[in-house]
Amino acid sequence: MKLDLRPLLAENIRILPVDFLLPPPAEEDMAPNLYGVRFPSDLQVQGEITNTAGYMRMSLSAAIPYIAPCARCLEDVTGTFSFRFEKTVAPAKLLTNIAEEDADDYVIVEDGFLDVDEQLLEMLTLEFPSKLLCREDCAGLCPQCGKSLNEGPCQCSKQETDPRLAPLAAWLERHKADKSEDET
Ligand SMILES: [Zn+2]
Ligand SMILES: [Zn+2]
Repeated sequence: MKLDLRPLLAENIRILPVDFLLPPPAEEDMAPNLYGVRFPSDLQVQGEITNTAGYMRMSLSAAIPYIAPCARCLEDVTGTFSFRFEKTVAPAKLLTNIAEEDADDYVIVEDGFLDVDEQLLEMLTLEFPSKLLCREDCAGLCPQCGKSLNEGPCQCSKQETDPRLAPLAAWLERHKADKSEDET
């Protein structure tokens, strides 16, 4: 979305409201940390750009619904991911004065227009959690038979408990029982 900043630059207005939808990244453009993540609808971008005596500040919040595999059991996890996008807005001609390490704090206006789509998608990629869980205590899959242990123990665990690990297994069972009592 190309935002027209000319009224703001001309100081005809002091606050420019921002409200638009941005299509999610195409599957082939998804970074590795978004592997398996689906975005069923657009990124909702809302906020404003303010001009205070020539100092322009962009303050946006972005939110997107997602469906992602649980990092342990691969079941679908659904939710809405949101993040903030706060930048100083600088005209292109001032860019040369900005030190390279500070460049991330800026968005650049060219010929009165500002396009932050790419930066928003980049931020979505960077900030999106790399590990989502269907629930805090997801038991995951059995590494041997692949059964989801959230549905109860599989046959493998009954057959092959290493005797040396038996005390640990017993402790874990007790711990689980205590925990579920706490929760009820
Ligand atoms: Zn899970
Ligand atoms: Zn198993």
